[in-house]
Amino acid sequence: MTSNIVWHQKLDMKYRQDKTKSKGFVIWFTGLSASGKSSVASLVEKKLVDKGRMAYLLDGDNIRHGLCSDLGFSEEHRMENIRRLSEVAALLEDSGVIAIVSAITPLEEMRNLAKSKAKKFILVYVKAEIDTCIKRDPKGLYKKALEGEIKGYTGIDSPFEEPEQYDILLDTDKDDVLTCADKVMEYIQGVL
Ligand code: ADP
Repeated sequence: MTSNIVWHQKLDMKYRQDKTKSKGFVIWFTGLSASGKSSVASLVEKKLVDKGRMAYLLDGDNIRHGLCSDLGFSEEHRMENIRRLSEVAALLEDSGVIAIVSAITPLEEMRNLAKSKAKKFILVYVKAEIDTCIKRDPKGLYKKALEGEIKGYTGIDSPFEEPEQYDILLDTDKDDVLTCADKVMEYIQGVL
């Protein structure tokens, strides 16, 4: 589809970073719904912004109200959702912004795609037992899925493949949101 479209030369990423002193990378949060991705990711975003860093959270739920409002939850649409998030995250990274993505990203193939688009990619696996997630159920969607009102809900009747590899593991059954956010901040100190 892109074969007839030229690729315009663009400003070198390193040049931009040196001039603006703003280094971009991608932090990608994966995990079951209600595992705590958005809670931790938004706190990490706040902590980075408080440090004067350009950081921007692409929240999977929020993005589905705009950029991905045409997509549903079939495997094909979920893949397209992740493809778009990956492309936007990579553009933010290129522009010198720290892109923080919070999205279930249930399949290894999806996480590999996201990683392949970024230059520097940090995968955060936000882990919580499915029973914990069902108990939290902040959006009431597990209840609906268990009652059969929603089909193809991740963790209920749609798979979540545990990541084979990740950079940071957060256990939200054990650690509170602040402790989890601090763990991420500690890890990325070396990248900032
Ligand atoms: P997700 O983005 O993974 O769907 P959310 O962050 O939207 O998850 O919701 C997780 C819910 O669990 C929130 O209501 C949050 O307050 C609660 N919660 C309880 N303990 C934790 C924890 N340790 N880490 C993150 N969230 C937690």
